[in-house]
Amino acid sequence: MTATRVPGVPVIEDGVLISTNPATGEEAGRVPVADAAAVAAAVQRAKEAGAWWQSLGFDGRKERLIRWRSLIVQRIEELAQLTGLEAGKPRNDAIMEAVAAVEHLDWAAHHAKRVLGPRRTRTRILLAEHAGHLEYLPYGVVGVIGPWNYPILTPIGPISGALAAGNAVVFKPSEYTPIVGQWLVDTFAEVVPEQPVMQAVHGLGDVGGALCRSGVGKVSFTGSTATGKKVMAACAENLVPVVIEAGGKDALIVDADADVKAAAEAAVWGGMTNAGQTCIGIERVYAVAPVYDQLVKEIVARAGKLRTGEEIGPITMPRQIDVIREHIDDALAKGGTAVLGGVGAVQPPYVAPTVLVDVPADSSEIREETFGPTLTITKVADADEAVRLANDSPYGLGGAVFGKKNAVRIARRLRSGMVAVNSTLSFVGMGNLPFGGVGESGFGRIHGEDGLREFARPKAITVRRARSLLPSTTFERTPAQVKQIVKVVRMLYGRKS
Ligand code: NAD
Repeated sequence: MTATRVPGVPVIEDGVLISTNPATGEEAGRVPVADAAAVAAAVQRAKEAGAWWQSLGFDGRKERLIRWRSLIVQRIEELAQLTGLEAGKPRNDAIMEAVAAVEHLDWAAHHAKRVLGPRRTRTRILLAEHAGHLEYLPYGVVGVIGPWNYPILTPIGPISGALAAGNAVVFKPSEYTPIVGQWLVDTFAEVVPEQPVMQAVHGLGDVGGALCRSGVGKVSFTGSTATGKKVMAACAENLVPVVIEAGGKDALIVDADADVKAAAEAAVWGGMTNAGQTCIGIERVYAVAPVYDQLVKEIVARAGKLRTGEEIGPITMPRQIDVIREHIDDALAKGGTAVLGGVGAVQPPYVAPTVLVDVPADSSEIREETFGPTLTITKVADADEAVRLANDSPYGLGGAVFGKKNAVRIARRLRSGMVAVNSTLSFVGMGNLPFGGVGESGFGRIHGEDGLREFARPKAITVRRARSLLPSTTFERTPAQVKQIVKVVRMLYGRKS
């Protein structure tokens, strides 16, 4: 039986997942659906492949990862076109996404040896006869579960860390973007043809659940908070550690000494790039009273120029349109005003840019992740009030501050994993900065040194290199030696300061 097809909604027919464009319904491709046995088999193959991959060492892996990076760059237009076909993403948004992904791949490849490789630790006086050695060993196989909104960047973040650390990867792409996911796996196989070091398993949520239970050493999940909790529960059954990169409700604060035009430009891009379907997208703006009116005017002028079907692509996941509509309706019903867009902005599969003011703090537009091209702008008395309101959220992913004198101080006070000062979203494009949230936005980090360590476990080794002068780890120590140890401890640690 052939199921009725709704553009953008994945369909499974005869064990095959069919992916279509959310605006046109055009088919983007087909992939086989995995069942639990197929997932287990993939993980089994990955265990062997992972041992081989680890045996290449940091330098061997670096060479392959750099070749993959270069291949992606050479075929960036093809990748952007495929992402446009499958997710409806505008070309330039897809190009920028691939650029950020390549940055992380490059950084992880170049720095894994320094961050994770074997090193000697500094001598400690009490155990001076022992040398300390530290290194970070891979988990073996890392399961990566991805979302659809950034189908290139969100998987490549953890995948680059996991691979550089020496793990094999079994990747479950979102059912909304399996073809882009498969493209990543296939291009990696072009530079690593010897072993299935990276494999994809396709399907709906149950396939992600099977991956959590398949014997992987660690799971990296990127997606909604609700699913993140299910992933954690599934992983808990076998004490499999997890990284959870979940949703957000990021705020931008505009202080009195900010460049208001620059803040407006950044708010519009940060809120509406990828049609607002960005985990670190700006959803709330808090502006201090002296700049508020000008900021609203500038934001409306800029957002009003964006065209649906051009800069603003379709909503990739059709059921998200109802969420966006409900949030706009709720904001207006509770007393908010649409200074751009509003109720009529929702025209499936598109949502036109919408800017809302005077939205009460208890409305869903302020409290829940909207994931559409909407912004609320709230007037505040000062930066303190802005910080208080920005932090009044269960989420804590990213954020932004515009200002001069106090901007960095304000950034430090935001309860989030990342903040951009005088820009939006920039932290996600820097290979050496960690990325991840607090609270309902998740925990653990991808990208940068922390993102490499996330995919390896520390291994500590001590090596005795001389006889003990202060023997503490033996029953054969004498009372005099214990006295001596106490004397040394008093000298080292007994002082008040
Ligand atoms: P989602 O939670 O619906 O799905 C994410 C992935 O989890 C998909 O591959 C899905 O098939 C899989 N899945 C679903 N149920 C599962 C289960 N029970 N067990 C295991 N896997 C399961 O999220 P989405 O709609 O694809 O993505 C949008 C969400 O992702 C937003 O909330 C967004 O903020 C968030 N996101 C977060 C980040 C970040 O880095 N923090 C980045 C991008 C997106």
